[in-house]
Amino acid sequence: MDLDFDRRHIWHPYTSTLTPLTCYPVTSAQGVFLKLEDGRELIDGMSSWWSAIHGYNHPHLNQAAHQQIDAMSHVMFGGMTHQPAIDLCKKLLALAPDNLQHVFLADSGSVAVEVSLKMALQYWHAKGESRSKFLTLRDGYHGDTFAAMSVTDPDNSMHSLYKGFLPEHIFARSPQTGFWQEWNERDIEDFKHKITEHHRDIAAVILEPIVQGAGGMRIYHPQFLQRVRQLCDEFNVLLILDEIATGFGRTGKMFACEHAAIEPDILCVGKALTGGYMTLSATLTSSNVANTVCGGEAGCFMHGPTFMGNPLACAVATASMELLERNEWQQQTKQIERLFSDLLPKLKQHDLVADVRWLGAIGVIETKRPVNMEAIQAHFVDQGVWIRPFAKLIYMMPPYISEPEHIEKLVDAVELALKNPHLFQ
Ligand code: PLP
Repeated sequence: MDLDFDRRHIWHPYTSTLTPLTCYPVTSAQGVFLKLEDGRELIDGMSSWWSAIHGYNHPHLNQAAHQQIDAMSHVMFGGMTHQPAIDLCKKLLALAPDNLQHVFLADSGSVAVEVSLKMALQYWHAKGESRSKFLTLRDGYHGDTFAAMSVTDPDNSMHSLYKGFLPEHIFARSPQTGFWQEWNERDIEDFKHKITEHHRDIAAVILEPIVQGAGGMRIYHPQFLQRVRQLCDEFNVLLILDEIATGFGRTGKMFACEHAAIEPDILCVGKALTGGYMTLSATLTSSNVANTVCGGEAGCFMHGPTFMGNPLACAVATASMELLERNEWQQQTKQIERLFSDLLPKLKQHDLVADVRWLGAIGVIETKRPVNMEAIQAHFVDQGVWIRPFAKLIYMMPPYISEPEHIEKLVDAVELALKNPHLFQ
């Protein structure tokens, strides 16, 4: 592969064109393995950023893609519809919380978030109320487009860089009580204070249920989410749940909000929606929100991307839902959770470890010092695994089909890294 061209001309996520980090050339992927150009096979611990839940090159997903590409890859969604979109939306509505009745298909996670925020703004506009603020949590992450960034943690997403351009929203303290700890009612106080003070201006609360992902890999208590739902009801504020990272079984439930037995007014999904095959996302909402939005001045919802409802993506997503309907994911994520709960606590004895946590098919090691990205990435590749940490977080989100020996190998590679201080800054 022409890695020199790649280095000189191609921008990779969150990297510099001046001092790009090493990129490892991948030629194919199968099951839980990523094959490098030099023939080495790495056990995947990332599911390609939470998306490849069934593993790579899955026959059922491949078949759906082949079948659909021979019929049509894409056709505009304005004024037309097709079976792949209908099949997918039927399945999504069957899986999602019961109150959600309308699906808006979009291109990526960030766009699903933009759509959700626009829905909330249009909802209040239609009701004749001017509400333009969103209440969210510190340490959250909702994407890299502007509105999504405006509700993402201000420090992590460097709001200072875009000051004057980004709308300013309200941030409450992130939950401090961990998923497995005893609930402390004080945890909700700051959120309660902010919703009490600002509710007349707040169009919606937006947050990631149970797991705050890219903003810190924090796994919090379901009671926090229950209290948020109660407070949103009490103050008549919409609740948007961003399940883009957590949806489709990752936390051991189909949707993370099930841990708290609550329903959102608006739900965003993406990432694993197509089993990691291609980009597609969806924003689901209740009839109350949809009908209010469309009963307003605009008479419709003002959004419609070119590739909305892409049939190829919908067909693969439907096939991914079919795999989930086989219900093997429950057993698989339970097994991965059990392995993490057996293997991660002993890592705490290492000097470099600040905390370990896990839930479903998510395992996190928080370190006291930030990783040296170049060095630790090379270490993991040498160990035959693919784990991509950031800052002080080494985390694993393996495909659900991972066997115990794969998880053990991932954790062994992390343990070896912890014994090598030069892999950290
Ligand atoms: N919301 C959450 C919770 C995410 O984790 C992400 C991506 O990591 C996004 C939104 C943005 O999704 P995308 O990268 O597909 O735009």
